[in-house]
Amino acid sequence: MLLALVVLALVLVGGIGYAVRRGKSSSPTSAVEPEAPAAQAPIEAPTTPEPLPTPSVEVPEPTAGRLVRLRARLSKSQNVFGKGLLSLLSRDHLDDEAWEEVEDTLLTADVGVAATQEIVERLKARSAVLGTRGIVELKELLTEELLAVVGADMDRSLNASPKDGKPATLLVVGVNGVGKTTTCGKIARVLVADGHSVVLGAADTFRAAAADQLETWANRVGAQVVRGPEAGDPASVAFDAVAKGIADNVDTVLVDTAGRLQNKVGLMDELGKVKRVIEKHGPVSETLLVLDATTGQNGLAQARVFTDTVEVTGVVLTKLDGTAKGGIVIAVQRELGIPVKLIGLGEGPDDLAPFAAREFVEALVG
Ligand code: GDP
Repeated sequence: MLLALVVLALVLVGGIGYAVRRGKSSSPTSAVEPEAPAAQAPIEAPTTPEPLPTPSVEVPEPTAGRLVRLRARLSKSQNVFGKGLLSLLSRDHLDDEAWEEVEDTLLTADVGVAATQEIVERLKARSAVLGTRGIVELKELLTEELLAVVGADMDRSLNASPKDGKPATLLVVGVNGVGKTTTCGKIARVLVADGHSVVLGAADTFRAAAADQLETWANRVGAQVVRGPEAGDPASVAFDAVAKGIADNVDTVLVDTAGRLQNKVGLMDELGKVKRVIEKHGPVSETLLVLDATTGQNGLAQARVFTDTVEVTGVVLTKLDGTAKGGIVIAVQRELGIPVKLIGLGEGPDDLAPFAAREFVEALVG
């Protein structure tokens, strides 16, 4: 009897103990208990983290021949222009109506009124002399006439080499959205490709992303960037950038500026100040105005605001890849009397080409 009671007691205690152990391990919270991570152990991160890839400095594409490479982008959007003109000119009988169509084609391509009239007059005179109008002769004729208005002999070189032991300073201006910061990055690549050392000044302190954007561009080609506090004084960033350029003995300092046009007077005052402050170190070598080719005549109105404030020495025409209005090159130069020095033909890092009149016209004529 006593033995039976002891056995019963042992069975009961053992059963409770088992029940307690089981209850614990099968509790609903067990999913977050150590068992779960232990099961995932094989996919845990290794104890030594993977080394981050070291950013490698890119070698930008040489600038010579870029326009030839990018020519297809230009002619794709300009074909209507060249082909349209050629088919008009090759008509057997060029009456007034046909000449009006030639005029319209030129105007639609944003060549501008004055240049259009000049081209049409010259084409009229020369095609009258030209007895037969084969497509080859017409192409030649059109190329010559367009070259004459595009200005084959204009000096389009960038003044980017150091002088008197000091770096050249390039000021890049234009309204927001025209591609100014992107163009600064691309110009830095052009300069590096041509063998220059470059410091970039992020003086667009109003657009928070602009300095980061510029830094990314600079890092890719191993250029230095000088930036200031957000919403800080743009002139002081410009001053510091040139000071760094002098201290580091670089060839060129490229200064990006702000372009909010909401407050025209404020913007222009600020731009004037940036320029004056840079000039404490020495004269500005180039002031490049960035214009968006797709904005046409509107872009010209913007340009005048800038040329009234700073002496613009060259124009960079961006987004020529997306427009059939390549004639704006002619209008910009005539209206402003300033050469187009560079053209943007895409969003890729090396899609900026030194402007070459003949290649450009040949791409237009097709
Ligand atoms: P910012 O406000 O003037 O500094 O303009 P951003 O440099 O930020 O450029 C505005 C947009 O224009 C970006 O999406 C650029 O990639 C684009 N962009 C700049 N240049 C060109 C160009 O030549 N062709 C095309 N298709 N897009 C461009």
